[in-house]
Amino acid sequence: MRLVTYRRGRAAARVGALADIQGGTDAWNDARQALDHGLALLGREGLDRLAERRLASPLARVRLEAPIPRPARNVFCLGRNYKEHAAERGAEAPPHPVYFTKVPESVLPPAGKVVHHSVTKELDYEVELTAVIGVAGRDIRREQALAHVFGYTIINDVTARDLQKRHGQWFKGKTLDTFCPMGPVLVTADEIPDPQALAITLRVNGETRQSSHTSKMIFPVDECISVLSEGFTILPGDVIATGTPEGVGAATGKFLKVGDKIEAEVEKIGVLANRVVAPPADGA
Ligand code: MN
Repeated sequence: MRLVTYRRGRAAARVGALADIQGGTDAWNDARQALDHGLALLGREGLDRLAERRLASPLARVRLEAPIPRPARNVFCLGRNYKEHAAERGAEAPPHPVYFTKVPESVLPPAGKVVHHSVTKELDYEVELTAVIGVAGRDIRREQALAHVFGYTIINDVTARDLQKRHGQWFKGKTLDTFCPMGPVLVTADEIPDPQALAITLRVNGETRQSSHTSKMIFPVDECISVLSEGFTILPGDVIATGTPEGVGAATGKFLKVGDKIEAEVEKIGVLANRVVAPPADGA
């Protein structure tokens, strides 16, 4: 099942399915649970109708929101989870998963504009396979971890590289407004039984900058979830971005400029495309 969150006209955001609903009652209960906890913006009515029919509005007539437009908690992210990316940043592969977060308000819809804030001169991109949790748990064993995943989407972990360096911890450089494009769809986990078997790429103005495979993660998705859940309860609606492969602008000097089109792609999910814009003149 490929789910989108969308708005039509001024109506409230709703969930729609891009294809017929399949998978029966179990998948539907998972979706309902995720909605109850994490997708509060979407509304019960839309979900109830989704159980019965396809997305009625042609995509051309709706505006896509991020699959989780405003996560209930910070977006959890993995740093340095591909060896080649760690190496291009001058770092060793870490012995344990490295986590940081982005605030929920940084989430940007598919086709939303990434603001080139004036505070940075080194605006960068990072394509990441992203798991959305459907079932709560703590101290989850690795063998059980994927059963807690509701589905997968894509995040572009937009980064102000100079701020990342200046402030030591990664939070400041990675959580500026608009720095978390997400989408375009949420693919339920039944359609991606092996999250380590996906091509992952990113293009800027059509030029391929990142091209790798999720099999190259240092810590696979199940381990990222299992370790995060050690002594810490993960909740339905939690979003976990699993790190980016090599090819970021910081390694080549090719940082993002106003007007650039970024396309972050993960096999079986789709293409998350966002343009870079100048900050609004009024500073809003
Ligand atoms: Mn990242």
